[in-house]
Amino acid sequence: MRLATIGMRLCIVRSEGALDVETVTEGRFSPDPQQAFERWDELQRWYAASEETLAAATAQLYEASNLGPPVPAPRQIFGIGLNYRDHAAEANLELPTQHAVVFAKFPASVTGPFAEVELPSDAVDFEAELVVVMGRGGRRISRDDAWGHIAGLTLGQDLSERQVQWRGPTPQFSLGKSYPGFAPIGPVLVTPDEFPDLEDIGIGCTLNGRTMQKGSSRDMVFTIPQLVEQLSAVVPLLPGDLIFTGTPAGIGWTRDPRVVLQPGDQLVTHAEVIGEMTTTFTAPDTGPHR
Ligand code: ZN
Repeated sequence: MRLATIGMRLCIVRSEGALDVETVTEGRFSPDPQQAFERWDELQRWYAASEETLAAATAQLYEASNLGPPVPAPRQIFGIGLNYRDHAAEANLELPTQHAVVFAKFPASVTGPFAEVELPSDAVDFEAELVVVMGRGGRRISRDDAWGHIAGLTLGQDLSERQVQWRGPTPQFSLGKSYPGFAPIGPVLVTPDEFPDLEDIGIGCTLNGRTMQKGSSRDMVFTIPQLVEQLSAVVPLLPGDLIFTGTPAGIGWTRDPRVVLQPGDQLVTHAEVIGEMTTTFTAPDTGPHR
């Protein structure tokens, strides 16, 4: 199953178009995506048993630019640092061996897959990432049970203001990665059964047409089930929570010469099976905002 939001309403995406979840289920499920994650197992069972209904329904055609974030209001967003071997090497940092490097992206940073994002400075970098969306959630989830607690995967950019990230006596990743729009996700959420190999998913991005990142999740230090096990050993994972699972090599900050995002840049992020999203960037706006 592939899910997206259009006009903040949850939709099932099929080859012929989008089906509004509330309409096609005759009101059984709410159009609010968060409500769907709360009843994830039930929605999946309905989908598996309803092929006839789905095939007979009239799908709406839609513009990709109308897609919103598949999870507009997650309660928790975890980020994982240094989770690809080639990226740890380019950053000249030691690979974690026992425990993943974890930080938070605050939920107000979420935006859609075709968003314009304002650059707060000239030190903003890109990180193409696979993003886990929790279904049932839970506490002390073992790696063997992890996929059963996951709704699916989407694509994300862990946009990062590097000066804020590294300033101060200890690095403070969370703030520098949480400016408005710094967590674009989408275009769709794809359930685990749709991937031919969950441990080998190609992911990357291009900047103004130039390939910057091109990797595969087989290079992850900690697999997705291991990340769910480690996080849920400490924090209860809630339906709809996101885990940004780390980025492969090719970020801008460690390049020589260094690459940072500029106003007018177009960043296209892609992953196998999930698709692609396009983020464009605007100049800093220093006026007051509510
Ligand atoms: Zn990251």
